[in-house]
Amino acid sequence: MDQQERARRAAAARQAAGDLAARDITGIAVTWVDTSGVTRVKAVPLSRLERAAAWGIGMSPVFDAFLIDDSITSGRFAGGPVGDLRLHPDLDRLAVMPALPGWAWAPADRYDQEGEPHPLDARHLARRATERLAADGMAVKAAFEVEWAVSLGDGDDFAPACAGPAYGMTRLTEQSDYLRDVVEALSAAGVAVEQIHPEYAAGQYEVSVASADPVAAADTFVLVRETIRAVSLVHDLRATFSPKVLADGVGNGAHVHLSLWREGVNLMAGGEGRFGLTRDGEGFAAGILSRLPALLAIGAPSVASYLRLVPSHWAGAYACWGLENREAALRFVTGAVGDRSQAANLEIKCFDAAANPYLVMAALLAAGRAGRAEGGALPEPVDVDPATLDGVPRLPSSLGAAVAAFEADDALREALGEAMIDTVAVVRRGEIALFDGLAPEEIAARTRWRH
Ligand code: GLU
Ligand code: MG
Repeated sequence: MDQQERARRAAAARQAAGDLAARDITGIAVTWVDTSGVTRVKAVPLSRLERAAAWGIGMSPVFDAFLIDDSITSGRFAGGPVGDLRLHPDLDRLAVMPALPGWAWAPADRYDQEGEPHPLDARHLARRATERLAADGMAVKAAFEVEWAVSLGDGDDFAPACAGPAYGMTRLTEQSDYLRDVVEALSAAGVAVEQIHPEYAAGQYEVSVASADPVAAADTFVLVRETIRAVSLVHDLRATFSPKVLADGVGNGAHVHLSLWREGVNLMAGGEGRFGLTRDGEGFAAGILSRLPALLAIGAPSVASYLRLVPSHWAGAYACWGLENREAALRFVTGAVGDRSQAANLEIKCFDAAANPYLVMAALLAAGRAGRAEGGALPEPVDVDPATLDGVPRLPSSLGAAVAAFEADDALREALGEAMIDTVAVVRRGEIALFDGLAPEEIAARTRWRH
């Protein structure tokens, strides 16, 4: 970051500070997401926004080596008490947080003291993956679906905040004030809510938002979760985005929707391939499908993720794809006739909200780009529950197996860099050791309130 860029950021901050003061904002929460998927924060008063925008806020790099329980591991590239990073709020993504009166939010870009992007800054890696695709003439539109479960009060045990049937109107009625406030707070924070509904599991709801470019989609995922968490507390409720809130039953997914575009044309529709896929769209999808075992180390990053990722729970536990198949890891969505050029997309179902959404974007874009470059082709689609067939491979059923696949994948290594590969692997192994030998109930309980 050169002096000119610092001056540009300072000027933008002065302007933003004027707007924020007029809206009675006192502080700006500047967040980033760590390797383990936990959103961390430093905040500044409004008077310091200009300084923070130009010069960043100091923060230890040790958080890249934090485990889910706040203990610290160390690898070749992360861990230890020495060093400092600068967190630069991205003011292009500033949002007020109506559920936290007086507060605004901005995602951080992490730089070193030389003004270079930190090699473990996941937001930077997501942006770089987007730029690489742009250099190929391509763009991705993406969105995370957010599932969460709501517990009554502030206890650590989970006490579902609604009792009505799955997807039942009763559940909306039981928590209608809360859900209205969630929608209002998201809208006021600039999030384009597309739908909200009760989900299947106890106390579970879901919100869908409009697609956006990959970095914006990841930012929105953070903003949506923190907004839901804040609105929940106001209503004396506790929100959990954990992959498996209770050891039995259905978990929380964080399905990712992706479509690939060139010059304003959706390459997931209008082609000669199956269900209208273009060759580019199919190559992109094949790059993701073939790398799903490795991608799970990013998208299903917690020991609890593998309690969720089981057949017959709509979590996408099989390494296959299919049209509108909710048991396939990759569900292909065409949308309705007449709308397909806009609506067609891939849904990656096997991921959950313990993931760092920026790393998810960086890794998915890299896998898709590699698949297109290889001229990848999809296998036969599966149009029934894969559990009823012989021979459809399961995705890894443990975090350890996913990490082994991740470390062996050249495309991900090239895209994410040696430092990130090593750090992800040591953090995952640290958490595997942390939970070693624990019963599923204990793993679920220790993960429940962390993300
Ligand atoms: N809750 C399910 C999961 O764990 C997904 C349900 C759905 O298909 O929306 O991913
Ligand atoms: Mg759902």
